Amino acid sequence: MPEELFPGLFREKIPLPNNPLRAVNSYVVKGDGRFLVVDTALNCPECLAAMKAYLTGLGVDLDRTDFFITHYHVDHLGLVSELRGKTSKVYLGRPDDERLRNPDYWKELENAARCNGFPETLLPSVLGNHPARHYQTRLDFQATHMREGDAVAIGEYSFRCVETPGHTPGHHCLYEPNKKILFAGDHILNGISPNISMWGRADDALRSYSGSLDKIYSYDISLVLPGHREPFADHARRINELKEHHEARNGEIISLVEKGRRSAYQAASLMTWGISCKRWEDFPLSQQWFACGEALAHLRYLEGKGRVKKELENGKAVFCLK
Ligand SMILES: [Zn+2]
Repeated sequence: MPEELFPGLFREKIPLPNNPLRAVNSYVVKGDGRFLVVDTALNCPECLAAMKAYLTGLGVDLDRTDFFITHYHVDHLGLVSELRGKTSKVYLGRPDDERLRNPDYWKELENAARCNGFPETLLPSVLGNHPARHYQTRLDFQATHMREGDAVAIGEYSFRCVETPGHTPGHHCLYEPNKKILFAGDHILNGISPNISMWGRADDALRSYSGSLDKIYSYDISLVLPGHREPFADHARRINELKEHHEARNGEIISLVEKGRRSAYQAASLMTWGISCKRWEDFPLSQQWFACGEALAHLRYLEGKGRVKKELENGKAVFCLK
């Protein structure tokens, strides 16, 4: 059953089949004759049925509905093409939209993985089974790109777009200054730490993320409405915890690199992860993928800080202390 969190603002947890995140939060805001949906779910029959039941139950007319997508990951964007109506706007950050439509996207990921030590023999499986291959939206719509401060008005709510690059390069939150609520996407989550991954990215993802955490810290927020898990108050406490988490990770990476030159894949295999597998070899491949992307984000960040340096050995990147 959808939960009415504020007048005319609803949340439903849409189950994500076979996904460790278990569910994504999709929000609906009802206005005068128009509706806003914040984030959808995977493009698969189970999620589509759950979304349709949710939207129909609330009396949402999809022909009068706009979609605000916090970022392009499949669990948020996947169903937008299925659900959108004739007049629907789809709000999506420009950098994410460009990644989505980049014809070389998978090739670039593959090259980045190869360069950072991901074993050649595992690449076809990890890339072939990547959820984004199977659950992404059809690209038969044109996105409306939002910028910092852009207004999204619906009923009694006057939202403002907030650029929060980090989890993805084009991640956006939506803030309502009167009600002091923040649709946070995967920028700040409670109980789990958003994955900050570097695959195929030119920016310093962790530096961007850290800047976006600092930015949101100063906002006046009574309730954070996240992409996963439960809404929560006290965003400043959570931001401090996330920053401490990443600092501890940086320390762990430094101590690994101190002992010898490592590729991102080797560093990931030696780090501690909250997964119930004793040996790295037993990690599900998708988890190796996320872990390696995260190790790389830390190495890139530390490189930017002048703490480690990257060297190329036969076309492969290895990192050592500077
Ligand atoms: Zn997500």
